[in-house]
Amino acid sequence: MISVSSFLTIFDGLKFSEQKMPVLFVGHGNPMNAIEKNEFHNSWIELGKRLPMPKAILTVSAHWLTHGVTKVTAMKRPQTIHDFGGFPQELYAQQYPAPGAPALAGETEKLIHKVKVELDYEWGLDHGTWSFLLPMYPQAEIPVYQLSIDYTQDPQFHYDLAKELRELRYKGVLIIGSGNIVHNLRTINFSGKPYDWAVEFDEKIKQLVLDKNHSPIINYKTIGDSAKLAVPTNDHYLPLLYSIALQEKNEHGTFFNEQTDLGSVSMRSLIIH
Ligand code: ZN
Repeated sequence: MISVSSFLTIFDGLKFSEQKMPVLFVGHGNPMNAIEKNEFHNSWIELGKRLPMPKAILTVSAHWLTHGVTKVTAMKRPQTIHDFGGFPQELYAQQYPAPGAPALAGETEKLIHKVKVELDYEWGLDHGTWSFLLPMYPQAEIPVYQLSIDYTQDPQFHYDLAKELRELRYKGVLIIGSGNIVHNLRTINFSGKPYDWAVEFDEKIKQLVLDKNHSPIINYKTIGDSAKLAVPTNDHYLPLLYSIALQEKNEHGTFFNEQTDLGSVSMRSLIIH
């Protein structure tokens, strides 16, 4: 278990560019992390204090899957979506009243040439976005918008599309992929001991990220048997591709929350800076 103090040690050494925002991949895991004062929750509080202040936040959440279309939220006041079942009332009572970013949504739509992006006025902020933003930026004063994942497309499509978002970093937008590198809900184990295959796959991805060897990360099925169990469906994996695609040649990747929770949910998170 990593305590807040060791998280601070990881974070203390980071240097940020003045020209562009870092990029994050956040392993969000259990929705209860939004309100439970655990190590993940605490790391998000610290992260919010230490990152350069963004002008806006764009998330690519595992919980907004669209089919045959890519959408970007463009409403002024996105609703807080409680897209989960069977949790305590306290979690349903949470609101994240951040403003939207209609102008940036329009700019984002123009930046993406790979497909025609649709402006969306119906979605809002799902728990893949607000569960960590709530502790990270509790004032909810920074505009937040979301880009959907077209779930009919292959991983290479998502990686290539993400590269077109590059310019947003130079406009003060913090881009965050939100999912989990290992995410198998059928094998969840509340006693918490990580499965060997979960650790193996997570470690392989870690090393590939450090080596900036993105091709096997995109073609993750070639990694072998551990991939089948770690990524039974790729909804929580694809957001990682959005984050790594934005890494520039001279940039570093720093990990935090490198634990596997519930046996088969990797919380590994990444700061590209
Ligand atoms: Zn999730």
